[in-house]
Amino acid sequence: MSPEIAIHGAGPSGCTLALLLHDAGRAVRLYERRPRGAAAGAPRPIALSFASRLIFERAGLWRSLASTPIENIQVSQAGRLGRTHIDARDAGLPALGYVIDYVALAAVLLARVEAAGIEIEYGSESDAALAPAARLVVHAEGSTGAAREKRYPQDAVLALVGIEPSAGHTAYERFTTDGPLALLPLANRFAVVWGTGVGRARQLVAASAPEFLDALQRAFGARAGRFVAVEGRAAVPLVLRVREARTGDRTVYVGNAAQTLHPVAGQGLNLGLRDVWELAQAVRVAPDAGDAQVLRTYAARRRLDAFVTTRLTDLLAGLFLGANPVAGAARGLAMIALDACVPARRFFARRMIYGASALP
Ligand SMILES: Cc1cc2nc3c(=O)[nH]c(=O)nc-3n(C[C@H](O)[C@H](O)[C@H](O)COP(=O)(O)OP(=O)(O)OC[C@H]3O[C@@H](n4cnc5c(N)ncnc54)[C@H](O)[C@@H]3O)c2cc1C
Repeated sequence: MSPEIAIHGAGPSGCTLALLLHDAGRAVRLYERRPRGAAAGAPRPIALSFASRLIFERAGLWRSLASTPIENIQVSQAGRLGRTHIDARDAGLPALGYVIDYVALAAVLLARVEAAGIEIEYGSESDAALAPAARLVVHAEGSTGAAREKRYPQDAVLALVGIEPSAGHTAYERFTTDGPLALLPLANRFAVVWGTGVGRARQLVAASAPEFLDALQRAFGARAGRFVAVEGRAAVPLVLRVREARTGDRTVYVGNAAQTLHPVAGQGLNLGLRDVWELAQAVRVAPDAGDAQVLRTYAARRRLDAFVTTRLTDLLAGLFLGANPVAGAARGLAMIALDACVPARRFFARRMIYGASALP
């Protein structure tokens, strides 16, 4: 029998939506391409915002997730003046965010879906024929081809590095002329997300461990300590992919299926979870889950947040590239001004945490 709501893709967006709708008493079935028990993909760090924590709390998931809190973030640019230090107190919160590994997150969510008794078909490609009579078909398959795409001239090098002294609760974002370099604290180590040219990314992945650690130390400096070990290196291509329309006839796109962002500001899944939360609110009490008016309301509520977060991320991805000294000085002054102005820091922090809903 066809489900009332068919969700294609059992990644973080699809599973969270399934749990929220199941809790609201809606009949949901998930369709996942991977076979049961197959790894969810490559390990990579995910910085969850405080707003994402609230969504996971409301879905009854937060206590099952082991994460490392980020209490402050240091933003700087290599070789130039200018530094900003954003503290959780600026935003009036216990933490600015929480770092978790994607594979661990996906596994916990899937286990909760199964424990809740939500039906899930593994090894199933999304295909209109699969759920012909569903009242609503949700696309949560992640990045899809049918969207506008921009390939950034960079790949992200991912790695898990040991450091002395061990990592605490500070995250670092360092903008180099080559691309942004993020260090996210994860259980006493740092997860590295290093945006750099495609050829250099390949070299960094292939380099010996001492060569990699040396290159990282030179690019990042000594502010966090001495890098002593590395594992789990990989390079992933960086793209911006945005669907023109996030809803259609009894159809809706959420998470990466709606928009895939550069990871520079750690916004992709956080934005996707806000999609999922709004969709669950729009659908939970609707007599007909796929009603055109319900989907219109959802699309209208998501427009500003999705637009602003996508534009801001794209801007940040390009802003700190290049060696122009005048532009470098201007960026440095902007960071110094932000550092000196508490209300500006508070506004910026809340904007990154809650999305456009934090705009006054
Ligand atoms: C290097 C890197 C760092 C990142 N860091 C952050 C960060 O710090 N913070 C943050 O918020 N975001 C971050 N992101 C983005 C984040 O990973 C994504 O936004 C998030 O994974 C999207 O979740 P999703 O469930 O929408 O899609 P996905 O995670 O892609 O899950 C999609 C699921 O659908 C399944 N599937 C695929 N095709 C089909 C099909 N045809 N039929 C059925 N099932 C299908 C897949 O197997 C998968 O299980 C980062 C991304 C990268 C690449």
